[in-house]
Amino acid sequence: MLLRLPTSLTEAQNCMAEGAVPIGGATLVWALWQRDGFPEQAMSLRSLPEANVIGREALGAAVLLHRIDDRVPEVMRGAASTVGTGAVRRTATVGGNIVGSTLRCLLPAALVLDTRATVLDRDGTFETDLAEVVAKRHLLLSLRWRAPTTSGYHKAPAEVGGPPPLVVATAVHAQEDGGRRVRVAVRDGYEVTGGSADCAAGTDETLRVLDTTALGSLPPEIGDVMRREVSGVLGRTTDG
Ligand SMILES: Cc1cc2nc3c(=O)[nH]c(=O)nc-3n(C[C@H](O)[C@H](O)[C@H](O)COP(=O)(O)OP(=O)(O)OC[C@H]3O[C@@H](n4cnc5c(N)ncnc54)[C@H](O)[C@@H]3O)c2cc1C
Repeated sequence: MLLRLPTSLTEAQNCMAEGAVPIGGATLVWALWQRDGFPEQAMSLRSLPEANVIGREALGAAVLLHRIDDRVPEVMRGAASTVGTGAVRRTATVGGNIVGSTLRCLLPAALVLDTRATVLDRDGTFETDLAEVVAKRHLLLSLRWRAPTTSGYHKAPAEVGGPPPLVVATAVHAQEDGGRRVRVAVRDGYEVTGGSADCAAGTDETLRVLDTTALGSLPPEIGDVMRREVSGVLGRTTDG
């Protein structure tokens, strides 16, 4: 297998055109390839600047999970820091997690940040939403969002190889009209359920409105965890 390391978008497009398979840290594909055979060419984005951004409002697809630190919002940091083991996090990438894994622990965090994805195809780069990236398995370059005022991530304790643990991701965003809006995503099993509400009328009213969204149909014990998480994050917002 030839591993290609494009350093520009044009080079990456050429790799794609020549059939190179995208690869992150190979934590998922290696065992599959050993079983089924290796592709002729693979392409890692680790030398491509566009795929290595890391900051308050952006995260590159080639960034290793263990490099995700306090430059990014707490919800994304919390998601990355609880994926698998330390060894997995030192090798696995953002792109491999969002596009390639079944658990996708980064996905609920990305959803509450209202994330847009930048992808590359043969015509160039374009922006799209996460649902399309996951469904069409586009070549992901980076994720971009607007920094929240506060955010939080809860993952229930779980045994390795057991059922997917409950995840509650929460982010509060400032609105153009001066108000605030909370976005919540809950992963129960492999399903992610989302909802959002204005925060103007206080925590109780915000929770009541969230209950009228798809989040209201969660099992009661999961609804309790969700309400506890949302209350905690709302309590930590700087303007009350
Ligand atoms: C022991 C263990 C525990 C784990 N626990 C968790 C967990 O708790 N939560 C969780 O979410 N995940 C978990 N995982 C899965 C882990 O997140 C993935 O292994 C990892 O994210 C895949 O990243 P990678 O960079 O190694 O991907 P690779 O194995 O390199 O690639 C995986 C797939 O993604 C595609 N891909 C990679 N990069 C891109 C890109 N930029 N654009 C498009 N497609 C791309 C590849 O073509 C391939 O199909 C665990 C894995 C292991 C081995």
